[in-house]
Amino acid sequence: MEKQKKELKGVWQLYSVKENKLERLRNSCPKCGPGTFMANHEDRLTCGKCGYTIYKNKKK
Ligand SMILES: [Zn+2]
Repeated sequence: MEKQKKELKGVWQLYSVKENKLERLRNSCPKCGPGTFMANHEDRLTCGKCGYTIYKNKKK
């Protein structure tokens, strides 16, 4: 968890530019509430505020 927080600080600024795309996904942080969009990573979603991470179900 701690490592992901550090990664996100740099990544989040890129994602904030694409806010419209994130909004389309309707991924809001369960901790921060609606209106807080989560960064969409390849295998997970991460909140830019609190660092809450949701792992996508990816099984192969
Ligand atoms: Zn959050």
